[in-house]
Amino acid sequence: MKTALIIGRFQPFHLGHLKLIEIAANNVDKLIIGIGSSQEGNTKENPFTANEREKMIKNSVNIKIPYEIIPIPDVNNDKIWVSHVKKLLPEFNVVYTNGKLERNLFSDAGIEVRSTEIFNRDMYSGTEIRRRMVSGENWEYLVPKGTAETIKRIGGVERVKGLYSV
Ligand code: ATP
Ligand code: MG
Repeated sequence: MKTALIIGRFQPFHLGHLKLIEIAANNVDKLIIGIGSSQEGNTKENPFTANEREKMIKNSVNIKIPYEIIPIPDVNNDKIWVSHVKKLLPEFNVVYTNGKLERNLFSDAGIEVRSTEIFNRDMYSGTEIRRRMVSGENWEYLVPKGTAETIKRIGGVERVKGLYSV
């Protein structure tokens, strides 16, 4: 039995995140999706709350293995990050990440880390999608359908625009 952990801020959840989750799901038995910076919401860098991000994920992910979504607040201290995460989560055996710092922190703690290719990084990027929302460009095709619907339902684009204008 292998359980994988994937942590992201998912601001918003996009097709790069979905691919990472699908690859992990094809290689393990159980998945934990950690919502990073979960205390944040309604800010420029973190427009969506943990609850809203959870909804985006639930409305988008369709994998065959069981998964759970758990909020992970920041501790702003790399030295205690891994133990902080372990305290909040059920047991996991492997971390899927394409982030260098995250890779280093987990592998230094003796936890197996796996990476995937980076998919269409110019576009499948939270930063790029937020920028497109602000400038009125197309963004819907960069996120799963269920995420686009969730964002529209909560007035997400207007919110992101408003947060960038102050
Ligand atoms: P932001 O631009 O706001 O930092 P992001 O798109 O980088 O958002 P994160 O929440 O920082 O998304 O990333 C969560 C995880 O998903 C990380 O392991 C990251 O490496 C991975 N990831 C993000 N985008 C892609 C992508 N396009 N292809 C593969 N993995 C990705
Ligand atoms: Mg990032």
